Amino acid sequence: MLEEIVKQQYKRLGVEEDVYEFGKSILQELKPRFEAIDQVAECNHLRVMEAFQKNRVRTECFNMATGYGYDDVGRDTLEQVYADLFHAEAALVRPQITCGTHALALALMSNLRPGDELLSPVGKPYDTLEEIIGIRPSKGSLAEYGISYRQVDLKEDGTFDYEGIKAAIHEKTKLVTIQRSKGYATRPTLSVEQIGELIHFIKEIKPDVICMVDNCYGEFVETVEPIDVGADMMVGSLIKNLGGGLAPIGGYIVGTNECVENAAYRLTSPGLGKEVGASLGVMQSFYQGLFLAPGVVASALKGAIFAANIYERLGFDVHPNATEPRYDIIQAVTFHKPEGLIAFCEGIQAAAPVDSYVTPEPWDMPGYDDQVIMAAGAFVQGSSIELSADGPLRSPYTAFFQGGITWNHAKQGILMSLQKMKEKGLISL
Ligand SMILES: *Cc1c(COP(=O)(O)O)cnc(C)c1O
Repeated sequence: MLEEIVKQQYKRLGVEEDVYEFGKSILQELKPRFEAIDQVAECNHLRVMEAFQKNRVRTECFNMATGYGYDDVGRDTLEQVYADLFHAEAALVRPQITCGTHALALALMSNLRPGDELLSPVGKPYDTLEEIIGIRPSKGSLAEYGISYRQVDLKEDGTFDYEGIKAAIHEKTKLVTIQRSKGYATRPTLSVEQIGELIHFIKEIKPDVICMVDNCYGEFVETVEPIDVGADMMVGSLIKNLGGGLAPIGGYIVGTNECVENAAYRLTSPGLGKEVGASLGVMQSFYQGLFLAPGVVASALKGAIFAANIYERLGFDVHPNATEPRYDIIQAVTFHKPEGLIAFCEGIQAAAPVDSYVTPEPWDMPGYDDQVIMAAGAFVQGSSIELSADGPLRSPYTAFFQGGITWNHAKQGILMSLQKMKEKGLISL
């Protein structure tokens, strides 16, 4: 009875009954996995609550600070909450950190000095880091400051090249950057356990090397985080997992006192560090976003797994596949033709709470060789913890899909993508 009403409502939004039923048949098999995801979320929720309660988060924390922002109780308490939550000595959680790339640049530039070398033992880092490092020449890059870079690629089977890593570490190696999520590459995402093994190996060779983890898209997917397995620093964006969909801007760095202090002096100024930086009224969204984040990440994960199972069943290449364990919230679906990628993105857009009436079109995006199509009907511009999809218009025509603030919305978006694929004759159910 109730289900009939649900189906009718789907129909009013353009999702036909056979699409709904196909989704339902897939979902029935996913119950045990969804239960495990809920359990991870429950554990992470309790960890967040423990940090909130220990630090006496209170109404005063949401007051708006302006000007220099001295003694901004909300900001200082939130940083202590982050430090405790992630078992770190210190944290820097600021709206003045404009995005994930900025947070990573800050962490690197503040902890490296001329003559030092940066090492990536997990292959090529995320696109935007190429300009920070100077792999692609860029104004203000680490290379311009005399900081060199070395990279050891993963082996063909996706495992660490321990011999190559050992050979790449020498007296100048100061900082090691480890990217947890595959991002938009084809390598596997690393589990926290794997990251721990890598850090252990590196510290045996050189104990004083700083191990930094690019934690973007990985937070709260597991019940442990990289700091728990020996990372000195962990860095990410608040318009991804930890902002819970509510943070309108921001980035974070958590880690050792030394690393975080260096970052604070670089973000503001030598001598000022963490003491300044007014939070301008965003604190409530940072706290409430963190409070919601475990559940939001669970919704996004369910969406990713639902999509993988649907599209794998229909014969498309999906990465990770339908049954693999998950270490981040990104799902790739390969369509092998442009029409598939476009229809998928149109479906995600059509199901959006914002801008649902616009049709996404491939465009020449700055910095990319090929045209890119993007679906993002988000409350926060560019937020990728909200349901979103994009992909370059080149073979093999892969859509990267992530987010979903609520499971209901992730499900609706995926069913809508399926509906568009069906309408264009690209699948038959
Ligand atoms: C998103 C992302 C970044 C960059 O974050 P922005 O907020 O887009 O600047 C860096 N590394 C990884 C792995 C990411 O997923």
